[in-house]
Amino acid sequence: MRRKLVAANWKMNGDKAANSALLTAFVQGIDTAAVDAVVFPPAVYLDQVASAVAGSGIRYGIQNVHSAEKGAYTGEISLGMVKDFGADYVLVGHSERRELFAESDSVVAGKVQAALAAGVVPMLCVGETLAEREADQTEAVVGRQLQAVLDIVGIDAFATIVIAYEPVWAIGTGKTASPEQAQAVHAFIRGLLAQASESVAGKCQVLYGGSVKASSAQELFQQPDIDGGLVGGASLLADEFVAICQAAKGV
Ligand code: PEP
Repeated sequence: MRRKLVAANWKMNGDKAANSALLTAFVQGIDTAAVDAVVFPPAVYLDQVASAVAGSGIRYGIQNVHSAEKGAYTGEISLGMVKDFGADYVLVGHSERRELFAESDSVVAGKVQAALAAGVVPMLCVGETLAEREADQTEAVVGRQLQAVLDIVGIDAFATIVIAYEPVWAIGTGKTASPEQAQAVHAFIRGLLAQASESVAGKCQVLYGGSVKASSAQELFQQPDIDGGLVGGASLLADEFVAICQAAKGV
């Protein structure tokens, strides 16, 4: 039985005071015995998050990483540094990284490979744009994004990797995919993994992301192939995020 996982992607938001208030509410309100919870703050706040969630069972990660070990990469952060702060997860291939920072499928695959080698869990984001959905290309796009990673790391790695299906048209737009739309793509993703290994496909946590709110979470999380959510905007609202975690616990 796969555990539910709910992740908070704060993107480039927050400050020490606001983070502190959010983290206090998360620690008080999230039952980590029942649901996996992960916070992705801006990297400069990793230490603050580490201290605030210590002993709570809430885990944390970084929103982006460089795949090289170290060196002349001004402005970048390595997996070793991430581990130095006790982080367990790294977001890879978020659509904002793919689109605004031109991260290709092969760059994304290289980051997944480097994270696995460092013992950090990659949360691999995949998803189609509105134009791609309207052109009936959803499965082709998501399949291509996954295959690029499968080709590099192999199927067994997907027992560790977390996948987040995030239709680009639903991110930050307030337009959540319907539970049926999301489930259809999640089933496609699990089916693609199952072609290589039924047992790995059965273990892999596949999250939905895209304007998840407390009001939509439960119905999404009740779908058989949706194992939780990657939450952006609503993760900056303590009550909303805690309620989303409650919804995951309840199904
Ligand atoms: C995200 O940033 O991964 C995301 C899903 O954002 P939002 O929940 O705001 O759509």
